[in-house]
Amino acid sequence: MTIDLRSDTVTQPGAGMRAAMQDAPLGDDVFGDDPTVNRLEALAAALFGKEAGLFLPTGTQSNLTALMAHCQRGDEYLVGQEAHTYRYEGGGAAVLGSIQPQPLANQSDGSLRLEDIEAAIKPDDSHFAKTRLLALENTISGKVLSRAYLESALALAARHNLSTHLDGARVFNAAVKLGLPVAELTAGFDTVSACLSKGLGTPAGTVLVGRRDLIASARRWRKMLGGGMRQAGVLAAAGIYALEHNIARLAEDHDNAEALAAGLRTIDGIRVEAPQTNMVFVHLPPARIAALQAHLAAAGIKVLLGPRTRLVTHMDVNATQIRAAVEAFRAFFASSGALAAAA
Ligand SMILES: *Cc1c(COP(=O)(O)O)cnc(C)c1O
Repeated sequence: MTIDLRSDTVTQPGAGMRAAMQDAPLGDDVFGDDPTVNRLEALAAALFGKEAGLFLPTGTQSNLTALMAHCQRGDEYLVGQEAHTYRYEGGGAAVLGSIQPQPLANQSDGSLRLEDIEAAIKPDDSHFAKTRLLALENTISGKVLSRAYLESALALAARHNLSTHLDGARVFNAAVKLGLPVAELTAGFDTVSACLSKGLGTPAGTVLVGRRDLIASARRWRKMLGGGMRQAGVLAAAGIYALEHNIARLAEDHDNAEALAAGLRTIDGIRVEAPQTNMVFVHLPPARIAALQAHLAAAGIKVLLGPRTRLVTHMDVNATQIRAAVEAFRAFFASSGALAAAA
């Protein structure tokens, strides 16, 4: 039995989700005819308290269509150096959107300093790109931005007439952690993108929600980018199932991350950062990584090891498997300790 801690994207749809997919009424969504896609888009909009929703194949496409809806050619968006949209999406906003990114340093809590945001806003002068949009991310690297911080950032954006986008790929993890409805946590953002295929466990799909005019524009860009899917209700059905069944249970993933961190912290040779949601970051001795990878693979544990390794909990790892993973790490460091002592 494999224990896969590489990402929360590795989950398999369970029987209930597969049954929902099997039974979904379908139509051609490019004609607006897929009742299941339409239901998901309405459900997501309602859940977030936004005017409209759009179903997209991936979070990358969702962020890109949102940025292109907010910004014209030659506009600029303010974004974190570590934000997914800036760093891990192939530079799509610049490459495909003709949107200039203005990256800002993320603080250790994941936030952008309000002073840094303010200082990066360009005056109305033909030397500069037009600063149009502030993009934040929650959770970011497993860290939660508080509602109080979001409110101060939104107020700053409003003062400067910037529009706002939240990359909420894992926003449900943040909402569950804070004990807030997701509509409250994301109130005030013009658009929010939320992945269904991470902690919520669908095979694919992301919803973008927000102001009606922006979602209409994003729908045009989605088609241009090749995201106009036809009988997409077969995937949207999984999304509806996920929104109805898989949000509250994210607390289990957070508990499992805590247990994983607590277990690993007792092992000499590993330094563990305190987790906030479903990600545990551990620091490993670089010289031991190759041997550790082989040891864990032999024990059926999949990880993406590096000097700072990210371990991710999700619906397909349970508390027993977390204990087994901790013991596999412990066995490795115990035997390598013994080897060092014998040498
Ligand atoms: C995964 C992720 C995305 C992109 O989602 P894909 O579906 O993999 O394209 C965007 N933003 C964040 C923060 C993510 O974690």
